Amino acid sequence: MGEKRRIRITEGDVMEGGINCPGCGSYTAFGDIVAIGGCRAAVSGNCPLELELDLVVRGA
Ligand SMILES: [Zn+2]
Repeated sequence: MGEKRRIRITEGDVMEGGINCPGCGSYTAFGDIVAIGGCRAAVSGNCPLELELDLVVRGA
């Protein structure tokens, strides 16, 4: 692994409360990404990706 890709979260994603995993396509809530560090399929070993959320702070 080691390769990192950034995905900008849109207002629509926020309203849905999560995103489809770019690896396996399973829907995963933002809270699960923070808690699990991956999509729901990653828990059962069915997705090799690690996911994390960044909050970008500007103007500090
Ligand atoms: Zn996945």
